[in-house]
Amino acid sequence: MHTIPHYINGGRVADAERFGLVYNPATGEQEKQVALASAARVEEAIAAASAALPAWRATSLAKRTNIFFRVREILTQRKSELAAILTSEHGKVLSDAEGEISRGLENIEFATGLSHMLKGERSEQVSSGVDVHSVRQPVGVVACITPFNFPAMVPLWMIGSALACGNTVLLKPSEKDPSSAVFIAEVFAEAGLPAGVLNVVQGDKEAVDVLLEHPDVKAVSFVGSTPIAQSIYKRAADHGKRVQALGGAKNHMVVLPDADLDMAADAAISAAYGSAGERCMAVSVLVAVGAIADDLVAAIQSRMATLTIGPGTDPASQMGPLITAEHRERVASYVAGAENEGATVVVDGRSQQFDSNGFFIGVSLVDHVKPGMKVYDDEIFGPVLSVVRVDTYSDAVRLVNDNEFGNGVAIFTRDGGAARQFEFDVEAGMVGVNVPIPVPVGTFSFGGWKNSLFGDTHMYGPDSIRFYTRGKVVTTRWPDPSTSVIDLGFPQVD
Ligand code: NAD
Repeated sequence: MHTIPHYINGGRVADAERFGLVYNPATGEQEKQVALASAARVEEAIAAASAALPAWRATSLAKRTNIFFRVREILTQRKSELAAILTSEHGKVLSDAEGEISRGLENIEFATGLSHMLKGERSEQVSSGVDVHSVRQPVGVVACITPFNFPAMVPLWMIGSALACGNTVLLKPSEKDPSSAVFIAEVFAEAGLPAGVLNVVQGDKEAVDVLLEHPDVKAVSFVGSTPIAQSIYKRAADHGKRVQALGGAKNHMVVLPDADLDMAADAAISAAYGSAGERCMAVSVLVAVGAIADDLVAAIQSRMATLTIGPGTDPASQMGPLITAEHRERVASYVAGAENEGATVVVDGRSQQFDSNGFFIGVSLVDHVKPGMKVYDDEIFGPVLSVVRVDTYSDAVRLVNDNEFGNGVAIFTRDGGAARQFEFDVEAGMVGVNVPIPVPVGTFSFGGWKNSLFGDTHMYGPDSIRFYTRGKVVTTRWPDPSTSVIDLGFPQVD
């Protein structure tokens, strides 16, 4: 059986005492295993990252920039190879997998501008003969802990900026789909990144515990579910590290009565069911305001019937399987629960049959959902769209703002004034206007509010430069030039 290795100090390491099982979600077969790091293995990787730090932070910005240009070139050339790996371990359809890599490449493109981003500031003559300037320097060894749902993009969110700023990195990917992390590390090596600068430790809680407590790890970037994000934030902060921990979500799409019905229905389908709903920015709740509700539910229902669900490798498939059999059971339980709680199951994805042992489930649409029902309150992370009907715009905003999560939110309307007011009122980190999944482009930063983010800085883009560097301010005074031993040609002052 193929063992997915660690990548430490420029080489693969596959031996381990414990292994995790890696499935192909489209077949249900366990095709690979992954080495799970012991504490000693993680310490070995931290030592490699620490040893590589002095030379990497001293590497010129020009040389670092060239590496990012080469990474971009190689990853672009090998995109379909990486996409095939993503599909085989995560299950998403190939076009989604390629889209994920393209979005991740935005962060590498951002990193090629590192000389501009790391520029400091300078004030001349703040006092007589005194100047002040600031520089940004790396924090040191950075741990990046990533979730299963974007096994290439989320690592690229973190490592692009972390490395550009002169840090060395330990990447701990999800043990459910761990191959892409090694692929990416080897692409960086091929592009000229020195050994030890980017390391991959495969593992679970045992590996994470070491990363959170080791004194040589100075910063932790985490993306995953809210309970784990919150505990990572607390524990890493307790050990003196800076932390950004992005958590779960329950994203609402508010549809005002004047919205373009077809546009809203198309958007709801792609945002709720794309990638089987396993996106932190997936639309999970559709908030239908006023009289549009019946027509909107009907328009979504008719489109659902045309969705093709199948293996991600089949070009006809628009949606693949879920990540594990357990997760499929969990998603199904929410649809069952919704019925018992008094909601109306318009389309029941549990009833769709699949000619495969893969972790497939059909798409579900649940109407007349209310806060207090589990299908509303919990993050489901599957292809289940809930519809909450409200009377007014204000009711919609109250619903969104009362929710514990605040990752993404969208409004669909033709009214610019209403959209502008929504942008002002709504409590979420990323807002879309007639855009259902408002993931910021790589030159802005990504992050939610409330229980979707623990920490201060958002991920990638300008915030990442602040997160992965420490500011230093230098105050300089030089002797009066008229007293110089060199004749500078100053007129003599009596
Ligand atoms: P998860 O929280 O189970 O795992 C994330 C990472 O934490 C993995 O590397 C995992 O190995 C590790 N981990 C799991 N349990 C741990 C523990 N007890 N102690 C230490 N480490 C532990 O998340 P997941 O299921 O892989 O990913 C899905 C979740 O991620 C969803 O909640 C989704 O909303 C969220 N997510 C959020 C964003 C965002 O930007 N806010 C983006 C992607 C995914």
